[in-house]
Amino acid sequence: MFFDSHFNVLSVEKQWEYIIAQTPASIRSGLRDIVSEHGRSCVQSFYAALIEHPNAALFLEKDMIEKRLSGSLQAWLERLFPAQENDVPELIALQKHVGEIHARLEISPGLVSYAFFFIKVSLNTFITQKFETEKSQIEAILYCQYMIDFAMKYMNMAYNSDFRKKIEQDQSFRMLSLGQDLNFEKETQKTTFFDWSTQALFCLCEQRPENLQTIGESQFGLWMSHKGHGLFKGMEDYTLLQSMVEKIDLRIDDIRKKQEIPPGFALVLKNNIYDLTLLTNRLFQGVEALQSGLDPLTKALTRRFLDVVLQNEITFSLTNDKEFSLILIDIDHFKQINDEHGHLIGDETLRFIAELLMNTIRSNDFVFRYGGEEFLIILTERGQDEAVACAERIRTTVKQSIVTTSTGNKLRLTISAGVTTFKGETKINTLITQADRALYEAKIAGRNRIVTFQ
Ligand code: GH3
Ligand code: MG
Ligand code: MG
Repeated sequence: MFFDSHFNVLSVEKQWEYIIAQTPASIRSGLRDIVSEHGRSCVQSFYAALIEHPNAALFLEKDMIEKRLSGSLQAWLERLFPAQENDVPELIALQKHVGEIHARLEISPGLVSYAFFFIKVSLNTFITQKFETEKSQIEAILYCQYMIDFAMKYMNMAYNSDFRKKIEQDQSFRMLSLGQDLNFEKETQKTTFFDWSTQALFCLCEQRPENLQTIGESQFGLWMSHKGHGLFKGMEDYTLLQSMVEKIDLRIDDIRKKQEIPPGFALVLKNNIYDLTLLTNRLFQGVEALQSGLDPLTKALTRRFLDVVLQNEITFSLTNDKEFSLILIDIDHFKQINDEHGHLIGDETLRFIAELLMNTIRSNDFVFRYGGEEFLIILTERGQDEAVACAERIRTTVKQSIVTTSTGNKLRLTISAGVTTFKGETKINTLITQADRALYEAKIAGRNRIVTFQ
C-alpha cells in the first residue's frame, strides 16, 4: 500500500476509506474467510489476555464473557473485515457505540488496545497459513493492523467524550457534599443577622441614630451580596430580600443624615427583621432542597441527577443482563386547572400527583419531576409487561381520585403516559425520546391512556 502526502490531508474517515480501497480484493476476502472460520478462536485469545489483566478482573466475569461479550466481539470482527470503502460511515457508528459501552463499563482504551494486540497476533498466525506469497502475507497483516487501528481510533474518541461526561456528572454528585458547608453558612448568617438587628434596635432605643449601621455595611449584608449572590441567584426570594434590604438601608441612611428617628420606626424595623429572617431561612431551605436533588414543590427528584441515575441503570442492566423501564407521565389538560382555579391550586394538584406516584412505586424505583406537569418514573429491573401494569395502576388510581384543595374545591384529573423498556443497547437520549414519543401518541389518541413504545 502506498501512502503519499495526499493521505495526510485526508480526514480520518477518508483515510480509512482510502486504506480499504487500496487493498486488493483478494486480500480483503481472504481476511473475511479467516474471520468467519477462526473468529471464535481469535476472540478467545482476546478474552484470555484480558481476564488475566489485573485491571480487568473487577468487571469481567467468565459468565459475562461467555454470555454476551464473546458473541459481540465475534460479530464486531465479522463486520469489520468484509468491509467495502462505502461501509466506513456505518463502521464508524459501530465503533462509537462500542466505545460508549466501554466508557459505561469503565474498560479503558489502554486495556482494550492491550487485548487487541492478542487478536492481531492470532489473526496473523492464520494469515501466514492462508496466504502463500510473502507479498500477500505482508499486505494482509498490514491491512488487518490498519483496520483494527482505525476502529480503535473511533472507539477511543467515543470513550473519551462519554467518559468526560460521566466525570462531570460525578462532580455534580460531589456538590452534594456542599450540604455540610451550607449548614454552617446558614447558622453563621443567622447569627450575623441577629447581631445586626439587636445592635440596630439598641441604637433606636438609646436614641443614637448616628451609630445605626445599614444592612449593606453589616457582615450579614456583605455575605448576602457576595457569597449569597452565587448561592441564591435567580431565586425569587433573593430578589425580594435584596429589594427589602435596599429600602431599609435608604431609610437608615436618611435617619443618619438627619440625626433624627421618626416615630414608629422601631416597630417598622422590627417587622422588617421578622420578614428578613423568614426569607433568609427560606432561601437556605430552597438551596438545600436543590442540592439534595429534590424539587422543592413536589419533593420528587430534579432532572439534575437524571442522567447519572439512568447511566447507573444502564451499566447495571448491561452487566447483570437485566431490563429496566421508563414511564413518562403528563397530566391531561393541566393548564385548565391553573386557568380555572389559579396557580396555587395548580401547585397543590402537582403535589398530590407526585405523592400518589411516590406511594405507588417501590423504594428502589425513582420518580423525577421531568417538566412542569410531567413526571418520569424509572422502574428498576422491570420489563415491559410489568411497566405497563404499573402505568395502568397509576392511571386508574389518578382517575378514581378526588383532589380536595385547601379552598375546599374537589377536582378530578387524568394522566397520559408513555412506556419504554431498555433493551441492551439504547442510549439515554434515545430511551427518553422513546418514552416521549409514546406519550405523544397517548395524547393524540385521546389522553387518559398508556402507550408503549414499539
Ligand atoms: P395536555 O393534556 O396536552 O398535556 O394539556 P396541558 O394543558 O396539560 O398541557 P400544556 O403543556 O399546554 O400545559 C401545561 C401547563 O402546566 C402550563 C403551565 O402553566 C403549567 N405548569 C407548569 N409548571 C407548573 C407549576 O409548577 N405549577 C403550576 N401551577 N402550573 C405549572
Ligand atoms: Mg406537558
Ligand atoms: Mg399536560
